[in-house]
Amino acid sequence: MQTLLIILFNAVLTSTILCLAERLNHNIPLGIKRSFCFRCQHQLSWYDLIPVISAILLHGHCRHCQFKFGMHYAHIELLGAMIG
Ligand SMILES: [Zn+2]
Repeated sequence: MQTLLIILFNAVLTSTILCLAERLNHNIPLGIKRSFCFRCQHQLSWYDLIPVISAILLHGHCRHCQFKFGMHYAHIELLGAMIG
């Protein structure tokens, strides 16, 4: 149980770091609003933000506009979870 919690924590931590890096890269202020699609600006729901699982279920696309953000986020989140 403790190992599973550590893996989940590391996946969430990696996802958060990726989000912050992406916002800094696009000059978006940190902490202004929840995660959103860079193309359609639609605010993402909690079930769109589950590390690795959401990207797999959505095939790396935005649920609303089908913009392809790719699977590399899921790969990095999975790598971060496993390294932790
Ligand atoms: Zn979108």
